Amino acid sequence: MKIAFIGLGNMGAPMARNLIRAGHQLHLFDLNQQVLKELSELGSRISESPRHAAQDADLVITMLPAAAHVRAVYLNEDGVLAGITPGVPAVDCSTIDPQTIRDVAAEAAKRGVKIADAPVSGGTGGAQAGTLTFMVGASAEHFTALKPILAQMGRNIVHCGDVGTGQIAKICNNMLLGISMIGVAEAMALGNSLGIDTKILASIINSSTGRCWSSEMYNPWPGIVDTAPASRGYTGGFGAELMLKDLGLATDAAKAAHQPVILGAVAQQLYQAMSLRGEGGKDFSAIIEGYTKT
Ligand code: NAD
Repeated sequence: MKIAFIGLGNMGAPMARNLIRAGHQLHLFDLNQQVLKELSELGSRISESPRHAAQDADLVITMLPAAAHVRAVYLNEDGVLAGITPGVPAVDCSTIDPQTIRDVAAEAAKRGVKIADAPVSGGTGGAQAGTLTFMVGASAEHFTALKPILAQMGRNIVHCGDVGTGQIAKICNNMLLGISMIGVAEAMALGNSLGIDTKILASIINSSTGRCWSSEMYNPWPGIVDTAPASRGYTGGFGAELMLKDLGLATDAAKAAHQPVILGAVAQQLYQAMSLRGEGGKDFSAIIEGYTKT
């Protein structure tokens, strides 16, 4: 299949590599010439614009930083919609707000093009290993067309509902993750300051009602989970800056919906403070450093 792949960063490049390995012919576009060169050496075509990439492609995939980039890549004069053949499916895997993808999809529909949203979880490790989870917002027919290709980059391909619902699933989950990590950090730091061995505390929490993914798989206290970023200086996980971005999407969407997200807003402020201290590059579980003596 000829696939236009636009946005070849930390996530997009390994996803594109998996598609090349699966035998597809890729039309690549990114603003970063270096990554284009590297991937073209694997046999893909470099395109001059999103429009050029989409021309003559059987599918378009985008993986971009934020909403403004998605709007530009699809809607600009040189954008995907100017080049794509009507009837060809497109899927945006970026994490953005639900309204932007609905707006872009509505523009596309006027030209006979269906765009799905399919944000991912699993991070760069999942992108490399081809084990991502895709949360897909699309019609049933569009989902059926996309699923086999997404399955070449991921393990878990979930149909969430119509366009926009993939983003809703993603931002709700990540808001909860951001909050739960702060809760675990507070409990671990309190237990430590009151004098319990943190390993014993973690084992009690993980066999009791406080148990959650943040306590069990990704505990923020160093040395509790060997594979967690806390045990390697808070490096190599899910950056606090990315968590901050997702909490911003959740709180903005909540504002537009007149829906209170009280703990989500507090969590956003705590990660914002972490970012201001210059620690946004650390894994988000380093939020615990705000609760411990240095
Ligand atoms: P990144 O910044 O590493 O990559 C983005 C790429 O898009 C870059 O190569 C950049 O040059 C390119 N780009 C920007 N504007 C462009 C344009 N107008 N035309 C073409 N290319 C353009 O970001 P990433 O880490 O790959 O993340 C991509 C998306 O996936 C984001 O929305 C992010 O929130 C989401 N996400 C990231 C992770 C993660 O762990 N990194 C995990 C889950 C989801």
